[in-house]
Amino acid sequence: MGDQAIALGALNAGISGVYAYPGTPSTEITEFIQGSPITKERGIHSRWCTNEKTAMEAALGASYVGKRALVCMKHVGMNVCADPFVNSAMSGVNGGLVVLVADDPSMHSSQNEQDSRFYAKFAMVPSLEPSNQQEAYDMMKYAFELSEQQGLPVMLRVTTRMAHSRAAVEIEDTPRAENELSFPKNPGNYVLLPAIATRRNKEVIAQQEVLESLACESQYNSLVIPESGKRYAKGVITCGIAYNYLMETFPRGVDFPVLKITQYPIPKKLVKELAAVCDEILVLEEGQPIVEEIIGGVLGSSNVKGRLTGDVNRTGELTPDSVKAAFGLACNKVYEKSEVVLPRPPALCQGCSHRDVYTALNDVIKEYPNAKVFSDIGCYTLGALPPFRTISSCIDMGASITMAKGAADSGLFPAIAVIGDSTFTHSGMTGLLDAINSKASITVVISDNLTTAMTGGQDSAGTGRIESICLGLGVEPEHVRVMLPIPKNHDELCSIIREEIEYKGVSVIIPRRECIQVMNRKLKQKRANKA
Ligand code: SF4
Repeated sequence: MGDQAIALGALNAGISGVYAYPGTPSTEITEFIQGSPITKERGIHSRWCTNEKTAMEAALGASYVGKRALVCMKHVGMNVCADPFVNSAMSGVNGGLVVLVADDPSMHSSQNEQDSRFYAKFAMVPSLEPSNQQEAYDMMKYAFELSEQQGLPVMLRVTTRMAHSRAAVEIEDTPRAENELSFPKNPGNYVLLPAIATRRNKEVIAQQEVLESLACESQYNSLVIPESGKRYAKGVITCGIAYNYLMETFPRGVDFPVLKITQYPIPKKLVKELAAVCDEILVLEEGQPIVEEIIGGVLGSSNVKGRLTGDVNRTGELTPDSVKAAFGLACNKVYEKSEVVLPRPPALCQGCSHRDVYTALNDVIKEYPNAKVFSDIGCYTLGALPPFRTISSCIDMGASITMAKGAADSGLFPAIAVIGDSTFTHSGMTGLLDAINSKASITVVISDNLTTAMTGGQDSAGTGRIESICLGLGVEPEHVRVMLPIPKNHDELCSIIREEIEYKGVSVIIPRRECIQVMNRKLKQKRANKA
């Protein structure tokens, strides 16, 4: 699996820690590292972090003392860690720091299909985008070397298909040793006071030329022109996995020039060499049309085709089918979803505790015509679908509490938030503090299943301490209500919800029952251990 190749690449590159918050399609990287014998043997840090920002900052700390660190997240996690990520380019790094971001074009498991390459460009750091699993493995070693050589974090961007599809990968036998503890040569760079940041900003801008020439010479980028001196009607630029799709479309090889880009910043010199021999350039890139847009400006040409011009699908993933269509070739649509799986809406598992929570909430809120339930990201988002249809929103991690607060500030009653335990510690706690500070009249339901269920049951940062966190933040003790959500306790849960809705202040209800999928897995494991 691409994710496993990345994990093994990082282990063999000598990381001392992986810092991550689970998110599809990146979760398997950290899970692989957690289960690796190398991790156990070396004592590599691999515990899940509370969110992507804390992960990035901890990795920067590890890098500060000279160690190699990997940060992993899905693309929307990059929004959470944007602050330390962008500023880590200003401080620079000491030990190699690689930020793995897994984008999800077509939104198989996400709220949007944002393209993380924009973040790398925005932060002015190099980024790599493997075109196959072998490159994903090899690039890890290269990314750490590049990071230490340039003193900058390096982004490695993959997409769902790269992360989750499988291929044979050749690996090195001996993992590199971890770095020794060492302190930065320019420790002052880490104190981003305006005078220092201004100098660093100029230095990083000046470094862009070097980064671009490295991209032009990179073993991972290539420009192949079949016959020199010949002029071609069409040339192609592929980014990342799109190279694979192009080769799949033309299995016997191509008779037109191809520029393969897997290392950024965009190698403009190679783009110009390609443009010099072609009448038209087709850009095949996964995500948003960042290369198409930039090279349109570089070449000053209207002969650049791609997602912006409608020659390639503007949204959703690329597939070999969409590449064929861009060449005007007959397309048998083998990559479309089978009709067998199309009409299958997701649903909460039978016996899930969130079902009991939504059943009770629905019974109570029908007594309040203006009631709104703001929710969050997790299995419980499925409460938007039949048969419950309880929730009105799901925007980003933690937004349930702050949206309920904003609506309550504006006069909504009752304003209810539903959030999971892992999402609460990820990004809900600060919003709860806001609500407490302004004495907002909201009812927060922290549906606690003792895990991060949606991504497969990883540890949750606040397990067993959710109520003490709420008390510590300042919720009145009599308005922190913990109960067991099972059908037998339906009336009790309804009464608690009614009482807390009527309380004019911040109340927290914690229905707590373990995710049954995780519980079943534990039972199976227990039985297997006994056998
Ligand atoms: S995985 Fe767990 S939390 Fe998610 S729907 Fe199933 S039982 Fe509920």
